Amino acid sequence: MTDKNLKFNTKAIHGGQRPDAAYGAVMPPIYQTSTYAQSTPGGHKGYQYSRSANPTRTALENSLASIENGEFGLAFASGLAAIDAVIKLLQPGDEVISTNDLYGGSYRIFKKIFENFGIVFHFVGMENTQVIKEKINSKTRLIWVETPTNPMMNIIDIKAIAQLINGQDILLAVDNTFATPYLQQPLQLGADIVMHSATKYLGGHSDTVVGALVVKDKDLADKLYFIQNASGAICGPMDSFLVLRGIKTLHVRMQRHCENGKAIAEYLKNHPKVEKVYWPGFTDHPNYKIALQQMKDFGGMISFVPKGGNYNDALKIIERLKVFTLAESLGGVESLAGHPASMTHASVPKEEREQSGVVDALIRLSVGIEDSEDLIADLDQAIG
Ligand SMILES: *Cc1c(COP(=O)(O)O)cnc(C)c1O
Repeated sequence: MTDKNLKFNTKAIHGGQRPDAAYGAVMPPIYQTSTYAQSTPGGHKGYQYSRSANPTRTALENSLASIENGEFGLAFASGLAAIDAVIKLLQPGDEVISTNDLYGGSYRIFKKIFENFGIVFHFVGMENTQVIKEKINSKTRLIWVETPTNPMMNIIDIKAIAQLINGQDILLAVDNTFATPYLQQPLQLGADIVMHSATKYLGGHSDTVVGALVVKDKDLADKLYFIQNASGAICGPMDSFLVLRGIKTLHVRMQRHCENGKAIAEYLKNHPKVEKVYWPGFTDHPNYKIALQQMKDFGGMISFVPKGGNYNDALKIIERLKVFTLAESLGGVESLAGHPASMTHASVPKEEREQSGVVDALIRLSVGIEDSEDLIADLDQAIG
C-alpha cells in the first residue's frame, strides 16, 4: 500500500504505520531499550543502538513524513534540537535570512550559539518577499521561515520565497509549528525542510517535549540523519509514542482549534476595551490573501493588546483568567494565555521586540478545544 494517495485524516491515523510485526499490536509498542541482540556481529534486525534508530521512533518518523507529504522524517528531543541539527548543515561564513518576528528560542540559538561559530544571521520583515531578495548574496545558504509568526501572526508567502531562490544553492526551511500540516504543507509549496516543535499541536496534550524535521530529498535526509546520530539529540521511545498518539487526532483537534479561534478572534475584535487583535483570518489582515492561499484555515493562535494597556494591565488580565491557564507553550487541548514580553520573548532585546510589535501589553492566546462560550465568558470577566 502506498500512503501517498491517502487523504490527510487517514494519513494522520495510518500514515507510515503497520500493526506491529511481533504480536499485531495496533499501536507501535514503546521499545524502551538502548540495544538489540545480534546473532553474530552485524547480525541484527535493522536496529543496533537506540541513538541511531529505535522502532518506536521510526514509527513516529514515518508518520511525520506521511502527514507532511515528505519522504523522510527525523524526531528529536525538542524543537530546538531539530533546529540545531538544521543549522549544523552550515559552515562558518554561511549566511541565514530569517524573520524579525521569530520564536524567541530560535532567535536565541541563532544569535547566542551559532553566531559564535561564525554563521551570520539576518532578521528581516519576511512578509515582504522583496526585502528577502535584497538580503540574498553569494553566502546565503538558508532561509528560515516561521508562518504564522509568533506572536504577531504575520503571514509569510512560502511559495514566493521558494520561487525566489529556485535554482540557487539555498535551502528553504519552514517552522510549521503554528500551522501544522493540517493547515499548511510547506514541502508542497516548495520548501526543502519542515520543522516542528511537536511539543505543541502534533503532541497536542502538553505532556511531552519533542522536535521534528521532514524532508523530501534523500541527500539532505542523509546529512540530517548523520547530524542526528552524531550529535545525539534524539526523541526517546516514550515521547515518540506520545506524539504518535497525538497525531492520530490532529485533524479533529485542529478543526476545533480553528472554530474556537475564529469565535474568540471575532469576540476580541468587537470588544471596546481591546485595541488590536492579531489573527490571520481577518479579511483586513495585511496578508489575508496569502493566508487564504497557503492555509486551509486560520488556527487557534491569537494575540491582542488591551486598549491603553501597559505591562501591568496585561499581567492583571492574564492573572484574572480562570479557564485559560497562564503558561508557556501552546497547541494543547487546553487554552493557555501568555505574556510574550516577559515569557517567550524575554530573550529578545526590548527595542528589537517592540519594533516587530511585541509591545509590553501584548497578550498571546493558544485557544484550546473547550466550549467557546466558556472561553469567551472567561475573557469577558478578565478584560472587564
Ligand atoms: C516551541 C517552539 C519551538 C521550540 O520547540 P521546543 O520543542 O520547545 O524545543 C520552535 N518554534 C516554535 C514556533 C515554537 O512554538
